[in-house]
Amino acid sequence: MKNLRDFTYPELLLEVEALGERPYRAAQIYGWVFHRDAASIDSMTDISRELRERLKHEYRISGIDVLDVKRSEDGTRKFLSSLEDGARMESVIIPEEGRLTLCVSSQAGCALGCLFCMTGAAGFTRDLSLSEMAGQVFAARGLLNEGERITNIVLMGMGEPLNNYGNVIRFLSVLTDGKGMGFSHNKVTVSTAGLVPGIKKLGHDTNVNLAVSLNATTDEVRSRIMPINRRYPIAELISALKGYPLKNKKYITIEYVLIKGLNDTADDAKRLIRLLRGVTCKINLIPFNLFPGAAFERPDAEKVDAFHGIVYDAGYTVIVRASKGADIDAACGQLRGRRAVPDRVK
Ligand code: SF4
Repeated sequence: MKNLRDFTYPELLLEVEALGERPYRAAQIYGWVFHRDAASIDSMTDISRELRERLKHEYRISGIDVLDVKRSEDGTRKFLSSLEDGARMESVIIPEEGRLTLCVSSQAGCALGCLFCMTGAAGFTRDLSLSEMAGQVFAARGLLNEGERITNIVLMGMGEPLNNYGNVIRFLSVLTDGKGMGFSHNKVTVSTAGLVPGIKKLGHDTNVNLAVSLNATTDEVRSRIMPINRRYPIAELISALKGYPLKNKKYITIEYVLIKGLNDTADDAKRLIRLLRGVTCKINLIPFNLFPGAAFERPDAEKVDAFHGIVYDAGYTVIVRASKGADIDAACGQLRGRRAVPDRVK
């Protein structure tokens, strides 16, 4: 049986047409599924009982199954979900000044194997469908406190979004459609490890925000910690960023995980400045978040400050991101899609 949460509006129009129904029925069903978060076909009360019965023979509305929720002292919530085939994924709700961001996974696991990331260490299971990405938004809403509302969405959870390009674009179309889930393009960000062809396509196919996980200033170091750099080296990546079509005064977010003794020197900071000349960007510095078995260490606060100072003095907008939810393994690079073993949980 087909899940109604797996159809974009144009796809639903074709389904409705195949049923011999008028096009406005597609708008009604789509609105119920994505705008009003209907839990069942029976709840679509402005659709005739006869049509609802026909729909129920071929379609269903299924969500994801939340298995576990962890709550951090700072208000961050991480939830682990199970999918119909038993695959698992994690998503994170992050409260920040004036906004509440949901970090969505685009894949169960990840094939890119970045060495500073627990998801990469756990390996790849499969791509997520439109309904599984949208399901994270609906599930997150069910975990909110009274008065809370998700304001921002980042595809920065498990997986490389541009490796699941088709489904991610379909999800973005539903997410940013006023008749669908209704998020503004400005409030949605896709984060990539640097898949150059995907970046070029994304700039033409959507106008959501782009974030790029850079993390090193030489190919030698970047290839060591991010194997994808061997396919798309830094010069190619930067050239794609310079050509990225930015609309509405947007900028690209450059994510830079600071790792002790590896990419955190003054020379790295100066190289970063030179590399990013000509890229309209702001820079997020993220001191490495430890996880069990990690081969790296977090730099001292003075080192982070010094790096920040050099980049700031060069005129860039640069912030040190205080990773939220580290006490529940929900910070950047700490998602792995399994239940935490009890003795690891603080
Ligand atoms: S950092 Fe992102 S792209 Fe790299 S392994 Fe982790 S989830 Fe995959």
